[in-house]
Amino acid sequence: MVGCHCKVCLSADPRDKRLRPSVLLKIGTKRILIDTTPDLRSQALRYGIERLDAILYTHSHADHILGLDDVRPFNFAQREDIPIYSTAETFETIRNTFTYVFDGRPSESSRPKLQSHLFDTQPFCAAGLTIHPIRVAHGKGTAHGFRFGNCAYLTDHSSIPAESLEKLTGLDVLFLDALRHNPHPTHSTVEESLRTVEKLLPKRAFFTHISHDLMHAAVEARLPAHVQMAYDGLEIPIEVSLDVRAGAAAQV
Ligand SMILES: [Zn+2]
Ligand SMILES: [Zn+2]
Ligand SMILES: [Zn+2]
Repeated sequence: MVGCHCKVCLSADPRDKRLRPSVLLKIGTKRILIDTTPDLRSQALRYGIERLDAILYTHSHADHILGLDDVRPFNFAQREDIPIYSTAETFETIRNTFTYVFDGRPSESSRPKLQSHLFDTQPFCAAGLTIHPIRVAHGKGTAHGFRFGNCAYLTDHSSIPAESLEKLTGLDVLFLDALRHNPHPTHSTVEESLRTVEKLLPKRAFFTHISHDLMHAAVEARLPAHVQMAYDGLEIPIEVSLDVRAGAAAQV
């Protein structure tokens, strides 16, 4: 937190130094990014991200979209448009926020070159990977998590509707929002997320979107062994396979 001198912000543990929440899926040579945070440039430089085959958006809050301009180096290197996948509502906000990207006007400087695809409730295919969108409540708004194979990434949410819980059974890996201990109108707490883990019984769970209320080591010490605090740079192996038969979402 900018300007904060709390013990987490001053912690020497590198796991307490947190950039905005985002995940990169590496499947063979394919790279699928979930959200373009305002820290995308730093994340790409720090973790050596060299290509992007698709970008999935969970929702349109600033901490999940504002790094979109930093996909330009990937456009240069790959010499192609990068497909982005979002709901119509999220795309509307992205288009209104980044008018210069989508207005089609001639420009002297480079702009991100994107191919927009919309998803709703149905599974879609991104870079050959079948993705199941999982609708979640994010305060009064809506966000989406994603399931791919036996893994799911569920950032910002305050609650998970029953029809989405049904799509989250039999997981090997579940990432979920656990902002802090105190209740928050738009986020899940450590305690609420532990209850979700008890309900869904994934083999392993990782908490993300963690605020400076939570010190990594102290909180993790009190979690069950199969539940961990995620941290910047964390890499975990997952088992998924690419499916070339799945249909692409409608292009807009
Ligand atoms: Zn702090
Ligand atoms: Zn949000
Ligand atoms: Zn967020």
